[in-house]
Amino acid sequence: MANEVKDISREKSGQLFEEAKGYFPGGVNSPVRAFKSVYGTPLFIERGDKAHLWDADGNEFIDYCCSWGPLILGHNNCEIREAVAAQLDKGLSFGAPTALENKLANLIISNNRYLEKIRFVSSGTEAVMSAIRLARGYTGRDKIVKFEGCYHGHSDSLLVKAGSGLVTFGETSSAGVPKAFAEQTIVIALNDYDAVKQVFADFKDEIAAVIIEGVPANNGLLIQEKAYVDFLREITKENGSLLIFDEVITGFRLGFEGAARYYEVQPDIITYGKIIGGGMPVGCYGASNELMSHISPDGGVYQAGTLSGNPVAMAAGIAALSILARKGFYEKLEQTTQQFVQQIKDYIAEKNYQVQLFTIGSIFWFAFTDKTSIRRADEIVHESMEHYKIMHRELLNRGIYFGPSGYEVGFISAAHTQEDLNSTIEAIKVSLDIVFA
Ligand SMILES: *Cc1c(COP(=O)(O)O)cnc(C)c1O
Repeated sequence: MANEVKDISREKSGQLFEEAKGYFPGGVNSPVRAFKSVYGTPLFIERGDKAHLWDADGNEFIDYCCSWGPLILGHNNCEIREAVAAQLDKGLSFGAPTALENKLANLIISNNRYLEKIRFVSSGTEAVMSAIRLARGYTGRDKIVKFEGCYHGHSDSLLVKAGSGLVTFGETSSAGVPKAFAEQTIVIALNDYDAVKQVFADFKDEIAAVIIEGVPANNGLLIQEKAYVDFLREITKENGSLLIFDEVITGFRLGFEGAARYYEVQPDIITYGKIIGGGMPVGCYGASNELMSHISPDGGVYQAGTLSGNPVAMAAGIAALSILARKGFYEKLEQTTQQFVQQIKDYIAEKNYQVQLFTIGSIFWFAFTDKTSIRRADEIVHESMEHYKIMHRELLNRGIYFGPSGYEVGFISAAHTQEDLNSTIEAIKVSLDIVFA
């Protein structure tokens, strides 16, 4: 059969994985890397350049995981590399302020109408955790509202899933989260106006904040309508609650000003991560001067970090964001993505395959369903992930690296060439033929 290709070698990756299991739980330092939802063992990556990755066995891939989003400029971008190298000569960390922090902050704030002041941290989790504390400290209220299907990092208040019923207290989604914490987090379905109204009716003066991903992209791609986002803005304002946009994925991805600009909504607090550090560990949260004046040392909400604003990471962030701020960067990337997606969609339509390709900005997601829109987590059929597993295996065997779970979205970077994209389209076509054979 023409479609048959040999499985790639995973000999060295397999050996490294066995060794890693002796060091780390599940052999990994972040669970989804363990390839539990797809075939085979994880690939141990040796290096990356532009849109390409090489693993320990010497297999080459075109990368659509992009380190889970940060690498919007691809691997080994020369401007970022040079900026990092220049900083290495001067030192790795001082635990004192540097001009680099000012420079990155200025770049961000002067190009973003939704922020007046920011604070750098070292991960998305930390950014969101701090934003929640700020919301609670500012409002003097304890409860927060989150949406089923949105991921906000692994802090205690946010590892909570919906209970049964329209509006219920959350149940912890991880062992080790105190029940008392989960009781402060109310979890409701996305795109459900009544549930939000009910929450505010039931807990009128108790809700510090409603938190939502700019565009939910951690559990499939659940694109929300502007009317719904506007509604969240209105109802939070009416009730003296804050609206937090978690833009750890969408920030600097859907444009320099992220989802706030896409929806033309002014959130009270915005969190960033991933792209902001150009591949280094950086997170950030920001808000108005007034709100941020509540953060220590100005205000009573404590938040700190030994390596926050790390000079090497700041240098990488400055180099990356300077490129993103250039005129036409996002227009070009989105156009490239649109063309890529459209060619695959045309093929799906021609073959009448039961799969959708959802997209926004330079993000895309395959959903094995005939539903033409999916806005809520419970609209995703878990069994359909079996199709993704097959597609993932076939793509890897053809040199295409997608995230190792059907719930993960794919990313296009500015380093993907037309040639990369064309060969990917061909591989996707053959892989879909095999999925639906
Ligand atoms: C990745 C992510 C986080 C967590 O960021 P880490 O850097 O992994 O801690 C939080 N929120 C969203 C929306 C994310 O995509």
